[in-house]
Amino acid sequence: MFCRTCGKEVPENAEICLNCGAKPLAGNKYCQNCGAETNPKAVICVKCGAKLKHIGVGKDWLTAVLLSFFLGELGIDRFYLGQIGLGILKLITFGGFGIWWLIDFILIACNSIRDADGNKLQKH
Ligand SMILES: [Zn+2]
Ligand SMILES: [Zn+2]
Repeated sequence: MFCRTCGKEVPENAEICLNCGAKPLAGNKYCQNCGAETNPKAVICVKCGAKLKHIGVGKDWLTAVLLSFFLGELGIDRFYLGQIGLGILKLITFGGFGIWWLIDFILIACNSIRDADGNKLQKH
């Protein structure tokens, strides 16, 4: 595959591009399938038709844990993760009357929740 940051070819499933040092799928400038330049907002490569993969950097885990614990009843943790719909639902139900609040807190503390972009939360 190709590095999406610099366009150089990298081994399949490589974690780090040896050319630029970035995660190969963290960029958005080149197609990971054919190496052609892509529009940063494109979802499909116009040259080869492949679905462009993008693995961004997840939200901060510790921030999510703290928000979930202190402001989870208002859905702030879900808002932080980019899940606006769930955040609103949580807000109007007061964290599912405390039950949802507790479940979310445990899930986030165990890092089993992904953000709206599907990225795992980052522990530092
Ligand atoms: Zn690279
Ligand atoms: Zn392509």
